[in-house]
Amino acid sequence: MKKAVLVGRPNVGKSALFNRLAGRRISIVHDQPGVTRDRIEAVCKLGRAPFGIVDTGGIGASPDPDFAEATHRAADTAVEDADVVVFVVDGKVGLLPLDAELAGKLRRASRPVVLVVNKLDDPKHDHLETEFEELGFPSVVGISAAHGRGTDDLLQAIDRAMGSEVAPADLPAEVRAPRLAIVGRPNVGKSSLTNAILGRERAIVSDIAGTTRDSLEIPCDLGGHEYLLLDTAGIRHRSRHNSSVEVFSVMRSEKTIRRVDINILVIDATSGVTTQDKKIAGLIQKAKKPAIIVLNKWDLIEKQTNNDPELLREHVDRARAELFFLDYAPVVILSALTGENVRRLFTMVEKVRQHATRRAGTGELNRVLRAAMERQAPPSRGSRRFKLLYAAQAKESSNSHIAPPLFVLFVNDPRLLPESYQNYLCARIREQWEYPGLPILMRLRGREGVTQDINE
Ligand code: GDP
Repeated sequence: MKKAVLVGRPNVGKSALFNRLAGRRISIVHDQPGVTRDRIEAVCKLGRAPFGIVDTGGIGASPDPDFAEATHRAADTAVEDADVVVFVVDGKVGLLPLDAELAGKLRRASRPVVLVVNKLDDPKHDHLETEFEELGFPSVVGISAAHGRGTDDLLQAIDRAMGSEVAPADLPAEVRAPRLAIVGRPNVGKSSLTNAILGRERAIVSDIAGTTRDSLEIPCDLGGHEYLLLDTAGIRHRSRHNSSVEVFSVMRSEKTIRRVDINILVIDATSGVTTQDKKIAGLIQKAKKPAIIVLNKWDLIEKQTNNDPELLREHVDRARAELFFLDYAPVVILSALTGENVRRLFTMVEKVRQHATRRAGTGELNRVLRAAMERQAPPSRGSRRFKLLYAAQAKESSNSHIAPPLFVLFVNDPRLLPESYQNYLCARIREQWEYPGLPILMRLRGREGVTQDINE
């Protein structure tokens, strides 16, 4: 029987989850960290096939100065034993350094990991999951072990992970490779583009909207660089399609957008940008994710316009204008069917990746911002005026492959900076450093400890 092992720092709810999966109350659940002392095993019969579950207790009661070390040790032993590691974190408390350390350890171990964000007792807590997605595990499930929310999703994720037979040699590529998602409404050509990229028939292509229901994760080589390609199900408008499968797909696509490194938004050039396309673009923009827009079915447009360069340009301009809020995303025109220009998409992906590693020099950054402020003074509020003390680009987060550039501005008072002026400063930064496909993130830090995240 395969084994799923629960790993996590004390008090994240491993015991509660264990009880939930075992269908009985065995381990002691208590609000004191580290109450569960022993390693306990049971069989979970709630999934498709029974599997063993192991709770790595024995971490020592709090206050134990060594509990971090004990957690690490417990994780080490657990992982050796596991077919699947169920890595539990506390959504309410948020991402702690010990979680990140454990994540690093688990990423290096050659076992599939399901990341479980616990204590999401209510749908309004679901956004708390986002913070953990930066840990970079492909499978993330939000649950409430106490209330039973998300148990089915978790069982499915464990089941998938158990069937996935991750060969140790394969894993590093999956861990290292940046993730790309091909997103878009049904029938725009996502599956066709996946096939064009992979050069073989992997996803099922069909004329019926919404044929591809599940997302596929495929390691692939884009012009000499390794990526992991996710082909997602079409995102549909929630209100018009309320069958549970469709709603599930939308949720998954939203999740996918937040989790991957670059979103490739496919638009059907023959129908132009629709309301639904804008919705999906909006999700990408809201998630502040790197993006590339693909205008697909260009072969048909070329036929329609008799290759008239003016008319072709108009098509691109119109799409650009409709998606003005995703202005950082470059547009690539191509035909998934004929394969024309697909390589140009590869080049663009690589360009985005390379620019994400670019750092703006601090001296130059401060000069650029000061010059911008001299050219156009920030508006004053009453007698007070915004002052920039110092700016720097934050260090790249090690967990993200393609991190959007984050600029930290130390200012007199973040509240004095209106959004329009923030956008003005972001635009000046973009003029100087370009950052194609990447949203520019800005964080303001005030003198009195007032912090405000912009674009975040
Ligand atoms: P998905 O639902 O987004 O995955 O869309 P599919 O890949 O299933 O494509 C939907 C339909 O559009 C199929 O009939 C494809 O053959 C067709 N199609 C996809 N890309 C192109 C293209 O570049 N040119 C043309 N002419 N047809 C395409």
